[in-house]
Amino acid sequence: MTNRKEKHQCIVDHSIHATYDGMLINELSDILKGSIKKDFPKISDNQFICNSHLINYRVSMLNNIITNDTKNNARLNKRLTRVLEKDDFQLIDVEKHLEDSLTFGQKIADSVARFGGSWTFIISFVSVMIVWILINSFTIFGLKFDPFPYILLNLFLSMVAAIQAPLIMMSQNRSASYDRMESKNDYHVNLKSEQEIRLLHSKIDHLIQKDQPNNMEVQRMQIEMLSTIQKQLDNLKN
Ligand SMILES: [Zn+2]
Repeated sequence: MTNRKEKHQCIVDHSIHATYDGMLINELSDILKGSIKKDFPKISDNQFICNSHLINYRVSMLNNIITNDTKNNARLNKRLTRVLEKDDFQLIDVEKHLEDSLTFGQKIADSVARFGGSWTFIISFVSVMIVWILINSFTIFGLKFDPFPYILLNLFLSMVAAIQAPLIMMSQNRSASYDRMESKNDYHVNLKSEQEIRLLHSKIDHLIQKDQPNNMEVQRMQIEMLSTIQKQLDNLKN
């Protein structure tokens, strides 16, 4: 511990002070030391600076830290706004978009394809065939318009098949364009999230690497000042 009665010369104005009236250079933090060394390049670690001069350096250091932080935060925020503004892709409600653009023929094709791919269609189709064959085999209701081997039925069956195929293809084409639109939407959403995540990263990096150490530095300075006050109080008590 330094001797209470010891006298020191302040490096700024060379006035004489007691130990409790200031601090030795090697007791100061590196940043504070650095800013004092800018003004007094020749000082050594065991020289002394009085509290009233030290407070000026502390205040200017605080100001520096705060200004730099504010500047950095503003820069980051500007970048974030720029990125968010740049991406002006309008997400489409694919379902609604398609529904609005459907022509009458496409709507019919859709409903036919939907019906053609259902159990209702299969069951009713099979029942119509069975009724047809029964009527024409056993002359039910006195009718026999298509005797064995049911050539008219064959004609109808191939007509249904011929019409159904292009209808199904039409509806498939549209579901493909639906998928394309959706994947385009997804791509843009992903791109946007990626950019935002990247910006969040740089914000967190800034918090961890700059803001936090700066806050610690400020706290450290406060504790230093408190201990100076404590020293002066001790001295008063004695
Ligand atoms: Zn001084």
